[in-house]
Order: sequence, then structure tokens, then C-alpha cells
Amino acid sequence: MPDPRSRNPNNAPGPWYVDTTCVACDTCTDISPEIFGRDDARRAFVREQRPAEAELFLFALESCPVEAVGDNGD
Ligand code: SF4
Repeated sequence: MPDPRSRNPNNAPGPWYVDTTCVACDTCTDISPEIFGRDDARRAFVREQRPAEAELFLFALESCPVEAVGDNGD
């Protein structure tokens, strides 16, 4: 379960986030390089909150193998 207290510090402000348990598998960044970026360690973070693309974000959230993607990080 993603932990909003362990957000990657690069996440854009807002409800969507990636926590620090990301294992850099590239799944979410492949699904949406517009929503997700990669930091220097190749771990994902939310580059931009894009509410109009919520279905794509939820697909990435459900596809993350370690449940590092969360939607309640405010
Ligand atoms: S799908 Fe999960 S583990 Fe893979 S890069 Fe994205 S946040 Fe990291």
C-alpha cells in the first residue's frame, strides 16, 4: 500500500504521488510519460497532476507491482 508519508520528494504537489518503495520497473512511466517522470535513481515520481487523465493514472496505479503509486497524497 502506498504511503503518503514516504512520498518521493520530486512529486508535483497534489493528490497523486509515488512513494519511495518504487523499484524503477518503468511500468508507470511507460504508461504515461506525461504524468510520471524518473529521478536520478530512475525511481518514478508524479511529474504533473493531470486530472483529465485520471483513467490512465489509475491504470498505472493498478499496474505498479509494488503498490508505490497513490492517489491521496495531499
Ligand atoms: S510502476 Fe511502480 S515500481 Fe514501477 S516505476 Fe512506477 S512506481 Fe516504480
